[in-house]
Amino acid sequence: MSQSLSRKQLIEAAEEFGTPLYVYHAEKIEEQLNELNKAFKECNAKFFYACKSLTNINILKLMHKLGAGLDCVSINEVKLGLKAGFTPDKILFTPNCVDFEEIEAGKLLNVHINIDNISMLERFGNKYGSSYPVFIRLNPHIMAGGNFKISTGHVDSKFGISIHQVRHIERIIKSTGLNVQGLHMHTGSEIKDTNVFIAGLEIMFEMARQFPQIEVIDLGSGFKVPYYDDDVRTDVHDLGKKLAQAFTKFEKETSRKLEVWFEPGKFLVSEAGYFIVKANVVKTTTATVFAGVNSGFNHLIRPMFYEAYHRIENLSNPKGAERIYTVVGNICETDTFAWDRKLNEVREGDYLVFYNAGAYGFEMSSNFNSRLKPAEVLFKDGKPQLIRKRDEFEDLLKNQVEVL
Ligand SMILES: *Cc1c(COP(=O)(O)O)cnc(C)c1O
Repeated sequence: MSQSLSRKQLIEAAEEFGTPLYVYHAEKIEEQLNELNKAFKECNAKFFYACKSLTNINILKLMHKLGAGLDCVSINEVKLGLKAGFTPDKILFTPNCVDFEEIEAGKLLNVHINIDNISMLERFGNKYGSSYPVFIRLNPHIMAGGNFKISTGHVDSKFGISIHQVRHIERIIKSTGLNVQGLHMHTGSEIKDTNVFIAGLEIMFEMARQFPQIEVIDLGSGFKVPYYDDDVRTDVHDLGKKLAQAFTKFEKETSRKLEVWFEPGKFLVSEAGYFIVKANVVKTTTATVFAGVNSGFNHLIRPMFYEAYHRIENLSNPKGAERIYTVVGNICETDTFAWDRKLNEVREGDYLVFYNAGAYGFEMSSNFNSRLKPAEVLFKDGKPQLIRKRDEFEDLLKNQVEVL
């Protein structure tokens, strides 16, 4: 049985807290994590929630309570994780293009550090030698993921150290005594074909054979969730079976039992999130009917940025006749959430909901057009609680320095 919030619950939240509103469902997050635990139970697996998808402190605390670790891409995410109660050994710091000081800051906080370029690896090795274990982020040169913006493992990607530079990595390890505890790859988001992970794994096994101190292989994430009926999802159960076989084989050959780590973001929180807006204007033109809502790409950028599809429903008029709409926001440039979308008749004042709004929704929001960021609400045990206040006008001026 799949956990979801009812139309009634969503409408009540919209009435109580106002719109636009992000709503999250704790039990759905738990269900997703349980599914991963089940799918990979034959593996020696650990899950580190990629918190850049949604960092509200309550979500972090929930993840901690559910037993997940945390994958962080900035030192501030690391600090948020510590504040939420994660111990440093449950935090993996995977920054890209940061200065050495930020990597050192992670070391000072005692978290796992994942280094993604040769120059930083060299500096870290020179300074700390074998005293502090590190992970190395590799770029396996695999094209994977839903689209170019979210693909990170291909040859043109800025992420990771090329697998063709293994000799260089070896030299650094030899000359500095660096202790490489784990190898990492993350080839992108929305990977439908589980063989991408297996291909990456084989490359990493090859390296692990050369470096006997390696204990962990981190396969990143990219688990896809469905965005509409019949949409594909990454078959994590199939992947779990394939990985169990591959790791068992490696263990037989080498007598080494490696851990496998994952960093799911979208998989854990996407479907647990709902974004509720209100239809302000219904405008019929010669070309279409626009449903203009009280939000825009400043609140949910995925449709405009990634051409992502989010299922939309009219919460207020579920039995209304179906019509075709272009759903648009109020930002003063092209701001389209959906083209040619069949919705139950939209009347001005109706609540519309966007599904799959948990991941990269609020987190990528901005104050563009001097609009206020939405509030966030968490449903847990059937009860909605405000977990972030809506921005107020004063927030727009908060860090501005008036000199004129
Ligand atoms: C963004 C990111 C993830 C999470 O990706 P999802 O597609 O949201 O699961 C995992 N690992 C790293 C290093 C990332 O940058």
